[in-house]
Amino acid sequence: MAETDIAPSPAPSARVAAMKEYYPPLGSRDVLRLDFNENTLACSPKVREALGRISTGDLTRYPQREPVEAIMARYLGLAADQVALTNGVDEAIHVLFEAFLEAGGELLLPVPTYTMYEVYASATAARVVPVQAADDLQFPYERLLAAITPRTKIIAIANPNSPSGTVATRAQLMEIARRAPQAVLMVDEAYFHFYGETVIDLIATVPNLIVARTFSKAYGLAGLRLGLLAGSVELMQWIRRVLSPYSVNLLALACLPPAIEDTAYLDWYVGEVVAARADFEAALDAAGVRRWPSRANFILVDIGAKHAEFVRRMHAAGVLVRDRSSDPGCNGCVRITIGTREQMKQAILALNETLAALRAGSEAQ
Ligand code: PMP
Repeated sequence: MAETDIAPSPAPSARVAAMKEYYPPLGSRDVLRLDFNENTLACSPKVREALGRISTGDLTRYPQREPVEAIMARYLGLAADQVALTNGVDEAIHVLFEAFLEAGGELLLPVPTYTMYEVYASATAARVVPVQAADDLQFPYERLLAAITPRTKIIAIANPNSPSGTVATRAQLMEIARRAPQAVLMVDEAYFHFYGETVIDLIATVPNLIVARTFSKAYGLAGLRLGLLAGSVELMQWIRRVLSPYSVNLLALACLPPAIEDTAYLDWYVGEVVAARADFEAALDAAGVRRWPSRANFILVDIGAKHAEFVRRMHAAGVLVRDRSSDPGCNGCVRITIGTREQMKQAILALNETLAALRAGSEAQ
C-alpha cells in the first residue's frame, strides 16, 4: 500500500454496528435518587464491617466464587451446582443469551420491559419477538402463549416487570414453561423482595426454568455488581461454559454472606418501601395522576404530554425520576422509585409542587 493511501479503520462486526446504543443517565445524582430502582438509602452495616476486614494482601488474589455460591445455594435451598453468581444480573442476561441464542432462534419478550434484554439479544444472531402488553400493561399472557414457536429459544420475563410493576402469576409461568419445552424460561426476580412471591422452588421440577436474582435492589449493593442465576444442573453447565470465572470481584464475594445473613436489615428496608409505596400511591390518587398498580419498588405514572418538563421540574425540586415515555406502550409515562417513608414525604412535596406548576403552565396558555 502506498503511504498516501488512507488506511481502512477497524470495523466492528455487522451485528455490533447494528446494536442500539444505551447510555443510562448515571451522572450528577447527588439528590434523592428515585430514577434507577436502587435501594435509596444504604446496605446493611454488616457489609461495611466485612469490607473493613479486607486487607491489601487479600486484594492481590483472584476471587474464588464457588464457596460463596455454595453459601448462596444453601440459603436458597438449592444445590451448589444449581447456582452461579454473576457480575450483576446484567452479566447473567448476557451470558444466558450468549449460551442459548443463535441464528434462526427467537427471544420472546413481553414489552415494555427491562432495556438490557433487547441490548444483549441484539448482540446475538437470534430474532427478538416483542409481545406488546395492552393499555393496562398487565402481563400479556395469552399473546405470549400464541407467539411461542418451535424457534423460541428464550422467553425472558421480569417478574415483577419494569417499568410497569405488574406481575405474571405462578400458574401462568408454569404453563408457559410447559408449552415451550425447547426454550429456556428466564424469570428475572430482580424485584422479588418487594413482591414476596417466587418460582425459584420450581427449579427441581421445571427443567427449562432459570431464575435470576439481583443484590442491587433490596440489598442495596448495586455498586458492587452482584447477581445470580439458578436453574437445573443441566442448564447451568452451559451457563458456566460462557461465564468468566473471574467476573465477580473479591469485594462483592466478601460482602454477600453478611448481606444475606442480616435479614433484620433487609426486612426493615423492604417494610419501609412497601409502606412508602402505599403512601405514594395515595398521594398520586389524591393528585389525580393515572398510575399502574405496582408490586415492586417503583411506580409507573402517566404524566402525559409534559413528561419531560415533569422530570426536569422534579429534578429542580431535588428528586430524580426516570422518563420512560419512549418505552413501547408508555407514551407520556414516568417511573418513580420508592424509597423510605421519610424520603417519600419529600417526594410527595416535590410531586405536588411540580404538578401545580405544570397545571398553572397549562392554564396560562
Ligand atoms: N433486571 C431487571 C428487571 C432490572 O430492572 C434491573 C435493573 N434496573 C436489572 C435486572 C439489573 O440488575 P443488576 O444491577 O444486578 O445488573
